[in-house]
Amino acid sequence: MRAKIPDGVYDIIAGLENAGFQAFIVGGSVRDILLNREPQDWDVATDAKPEEILKIFPDSVYENAFGTVGVKVPASKIKESGDEDETEIVEVTTFRKEGRYSDQRHPDEVNFTDNVEEDLARRDFTINAIALSADDKVVDPFGGRDDLKDGIIRAVGDPDKRFKEDALRLMRAVRFVAQLGFKIEKETAEAIKNNADLLEVIAKERIRDEVIKIIMSDKAKWGIEELEKFGLLKNIIPELREGINVGQNKHHIYTVWEHNLRALDYAVSKKYMLEIRLASLLHDVGKPRTKGGDGLDSTFYGHEVVGARMTRKILERLHFNNEVVEKVYTLVRYHLFYYNVGEVTEAGVRRFIQRVGIENIDDLLKVREADRIGSGVPKAVPYKLRHLQFMIGKVRTDPISPKMLKINGSELMELLNISPGPRVGYILAALLEEVLDDPAKNTKEYLEKRAKELSGLNEDELKKTAYIAKEKKNEFESGAEEEMKKKFYVK
Ligand code: ATP
Ligand code: MG
Repeated sequence: MRAKIPDGVYDIIAGLENAGFQAFIVGGSVRDILLNREPQDWDVATDAKPEEILKIFPDSVYENAFGTVGVKVPASKIKESGDEDETEIVEVTTFRKEGRYSDQRHPDEVNFTDNVEEDLARRDFTINAIALSADDKVVDPFGGRDDLKDGIIRAVGDPDKRFKEDALRLMRAVRFVAQLGFKIEKETAEAIKNNADLLEVIAKERIRDEVIKIIMSDKAKWGIEELEKFGLLKNIIPELREGINVGQNKHHIYTVWEHNLRALDYAVSKKYMLEIRLASLLHDVGKPRTKGGDGLDSTFYGHEVVGARMTRKILERLHFNNEVVEKVYTLVRYHLFYYNVGEVTEAGVRRFIQRVGIENIDDLLKVREADRIGSGVPKAVPYKLRHLQFMIGKVRTDPISPKMLKINGSELMELLNISPGPRVGYILAALLEEVLDDPAKNTKEYLEKRAKELSGLNEDELKKTAYIAKEKKNEFESGAEEEMKKKFYVK
């Protein structure tokens, strides 16, 4: 096993042992080594106390009272791809046993111990409770290796008690199912069902991190299904459950729930980034609330608007960072765009890119693809989408934001001899509208000439000119509306 342990980690264990202490690799890194998977991070456990660890590795960070010392190691000694100048942190934790848990989250007290088995006993699952020493000695008091071989997630000790101690373990169990494709052992599974409601008290950030790990795993669809099966989803993304048993119209063979999951599954199969996976999962979350009629002709008018709002709420509630929230919001909001060859002009495509954001446009097409494949009855539209891609390529470098105009605010103020104020913004917006229609007009000469003409207008007229195109319906969206009315269904 030595070959699988990076030098940076090996040096730490050897260093501790040479100083007369016990030292082991523990936790997920041992699990992943034994499974031939790449460990995400490395955890070392030792009977050395924090001060003693610090003495051996002075270049460390020690900031918490829980006995964990972060030893700095050159990244090149941890990963092959690691940079010579960067450092990685290996967490070295003193063996500990935990006292009572009275809040379903944190142990009331932490006590150090010099017994590695006691330290392993506080860990959540048998597959995470194996210790490995520098000379390949394995400490495995709970049969973790057997469970790894059999593909089983089993709580260490009494499952009911363990989930009551820390309810995040409920989600960790499902996360390992999704990441490893394992099954949850019967008693452990029972205990998850019985304690599912405890998830309510867990910090949203911790829940979010597990959601991310599930969504980024190869079996994300299964992971979400397991969350539902165990009664956990209602405390994570209850909105998704609204689609359970909600049938769609003649163009869909799946319920809203199944369709959302299949769209996610497609995004996973393409190894798309988190935001695209989230948008695929949530793209139709608004359908149950907007459903009209029943049976083959049911409608879902406005579900992309309602769904985008729900998406924002869900992701904010789970404390996703703002960039993720806004990106996924945009992808859900515009997933329904209508495009048909010959019906949408280049100016229409530019306006659409302006609205969606150039940074989102390619990802939006990926969500659309996930939606299409996830419906189970993909219609023959790839030609249309390919044509749209071609159109996007054509206009990609065209000016679509005020920043890309060949005249800027200060040049404008100087030219017209005006001071900062709304007029400057209106004139720039009006100029941009013209350039969106015809990028050839983006020359200093033309824009200066037009700016002078526009400056003769009063504020109301100017405002109107600036926003005239905004009042014009975006071709993509009005197209979608027409299409819906014509065919009386969505997509
Ligand atoms: P990952 O691959 O995401 O790093 P991991 O199992 O290593 O998975 P970590 O959060 O890095 O998870 O934790 C390291 C180890 O600490 C776990 O393998 C487990 O032994 C223990 N552990 C982590 N969280 C808990 C918990 N909530 N309850 C009990 N033990 C835990
Ligand atoms: Mg880990």
